[in-house]
Amino acid sequence: MIFDSHAHYDSEEFDADRERLLGEVLPEKGVVGVVNMASDMESLEKTVELCEKYDYIYGAVGIHPECAADLPEDWLHRVEALLAHPKIVAVGEIGLDYHWEELCPRERQKEVFRLQLDLAARHNLPVVIHDREAHGDMMDILRETKPKGVVHCFSGSAETARETVKLGLYIGLGGVVTFKNARHSLEVAASVPLDRLLTETDAPYMAPVPFRGKRCDSSLIPLAAQKIAEARGISTEDVLRAGCENARRLFGIS
Ligand SMILES: [Zn+2]
Repeated sequence: MIFDSHAHYDSEEFDADRERLLGEVLPEKGVVGVVNMASDMESLEKTVELCEKYDYIYGAVGIHPECAADLPEDWLHRVEALLAHPKIVAVGEIGLDYHWEELCPRERQKEVFRLQLDLAARHNLPVVIHDREAHGDMMDILRETKPKGVVHCFSGSAETARETVKLGLYIGLGGVVTFKNARHSLEVAASVPLDRLLTETDAPYMAPVPFRGKRCDSSLIPLAAQKIAEARGISTEDVLRAGCENARRLFGIS
């Protein structure tokens, strides 16, 4: 029972074998749900196509901070138009990425992020948030806007995780918990309430050890779940079950 709350199966990394992987391999390996993330204008439509082709795939539509610099004038309307689709369950992937600020300046990132937070609130949908090297500004915006949703690939401290949960958000954890320098992530994995934890990959990126650096897919989630389980002193199955239940609750998937 594997639920991947965050993947990018529209990525060209999957062009060679997407049909077989999504149509056969993942369901055979126990993947019961995936939320595919859009990131730029092109991936909006691709995400909808994946949702329509595969029963267990749902979608989030939005513009990633790395892709927020040169958008067409009607970008927000085009995102909004897709929210009516029954399998689009969130606005994402949105947020702040100060590691890549040369791709898009901070002020523009904040503007595009806030517009999409507002869009999600108006449609009563959760958001999927990306926060890289922007914890201070991110927490300021989350305190002010109090969205429902998840901070994916959570990279803050255990204390920031506690505040994030208090604000009503979920915490997404994936392959990073298996990395050598994962002490922070494991503290978060151990301390977050089990009903606020989402399992995820960020496929094709963030493959867990021993596949680090290789192409990632949702079937590798048990490797991360095992690390989270060890940190909490519970079974891997408990973590996978929680990841599944929590994602269904947050995204309104029955
Ligand atoms: Zn992502």
